[in-house]
Amino acid sequence: MIEKTQGKRMLTRRMVMEGLACLSTVAPLSVIARTRHPSSHSPSAKPLQAPAVHRNAPPPKPLVMLDPGHGGKDPGAIGISGTYEKHIAEAAATELRRQLLASGQYRVAMTRSEDRFIPLEGRVEMAQQHQAHLFISMHADALHDRDVRGASVYTLASGASDAQTAALAQRENSADRFGGPAFHGMSPDVQQILSSLVSEETRRGSAHMASSVVGAFRSRIGLLTHPSRHAAFVVLKSAEIPSVLVEMGFMSNRLDEAALRQAVHRTQVASAMKTAVDRYFSTRPGVMTG
Ligand code: ZN
Repeated sequence: MIEKTQGKRMLTRRMVMEGLACLSTVAPLSVIARTRHPSSHSPSAKPLQAPAVHRNAPPPKPLVMLDPGHGGKDPGAIGISGTYEKHIAEAAATELRRQLLASGQYRVAMTRSEDRFIPLEGRVEMAQQHQAHLFISMHADALHDRDVRGASVYTLASGASDAQTAALAQRENSADRFGGPAFHGMSPDVQQILSSLVSEETRRGSAHMASSVVGAFRSRIGLLTHPSRHAAFVVLKSAEIPSVLVEMGFMSNRLDEAALRQAVHRTQVASAMKTAVDRYFSTRPGVMTG
């Protein structure tokens, strides 16, 4: 009992000292007044400074996770003149990161910023570990039809929107064969249930980002007909993070390959993608608070 009383006296003295200190700085009177009746649960707590500090903390900037496709022993598609998709993807993602950071509006993380192999599941895990607000996988694959050219954007679904996209997803999902026996692609059964793991909110976010990409690309970058497509891409399976896969063009087309080899063209592609990111976040204000 004596100890408790002494403790209270000491506490009171300390509170007064701190209260005086705060009066001369920034704490509002209401905060000072509260300290005269400190909670019995936390006699040693310092309730004076905490509210003032946190009140002024800005909300965290949205974190955009960029995922350059392939890498390391997986070259991705190889263009007619020998260009590796993995190099195009990395160069374009690096340019997009530069533009996003230069705006001062975003934090940016990349699944890889060098030429190394990462299994598809590992890419999804990285986005989750970083608590990304948006995941963008960047590719320039090959199609059987070499005449097909233009950019396109893909979201997750259990069934493919068309045969071309089904083949594309199958090819992308088999990237893990480069990982050796420890890694293996998803079985068709697992692929089928992927979409059911994604929340409706995430699905809406992904669709919103896909339409933002199409809108931003339409006037600046050539698009496929029906440029917004879907299939069971393993890399898009984050349950809570809106995710899209962008095909910036196709390595199988001579003109697309030639364009994507040019830094000027990749800068234009990145610029259109940044516009899409801006549109996405400007119309989803709830995401900004993290
Ligand atoms: Zn690819």
